[in-house]
Amino acid sequence: MAEKTLFTRIIDGEIPGSFVYQDEHVIAIRDINPAAPVHVLVIPRKPIPSLAELEEGDLELAGRILLAIRKVAEQEGLSRGYRVVVNTGKEGNQTVPHLHFHVMGGRQLSGHGTA
Ligand code: 5GP
Repeated sequence: MAEKTLFTRIIDGEIPGSFVYQDEHVIAIRDINPAAPVHVLVIPRKPIPSLAELEEGDLELAGRILLAIRKVAEQEGLSRGYRVVVNTGKEGNQTVPHLHFHVMGGRQLSGHGTA
């Protein structure tokens, strides 16, 4: 079996994580190195390596992730807006090879950067 990803280890409770949301398909944890007052990672339990590996069979999961993002944003009080970032692959500067969506907000964001 392939080695567990960092996020699978957090999901399995082997490494601590600050959970803010979880359901059958998706979890959300606070980023350990936040780039904004609110910086949450929304992560499918299924260890899809990146957006580049998303498949037709993941269609429903992709929708569930987006709905989880909306719920997390509401829960975190981001009614004035927020940014969702998905770093993908080497040139996208993705560091953890398990699909995750950065949800950042809580202050005025500028440009199109990470935060
Ligand atoms: P990427 O660079 O792959 O888009 O994002 C990975 C994110 O995971 C980074 O923002 C980094 O701060 C965060 N991260 C790395 N290790 C841990 C960890 O052990 N726990 C949590 N909660 N976040 C982590």
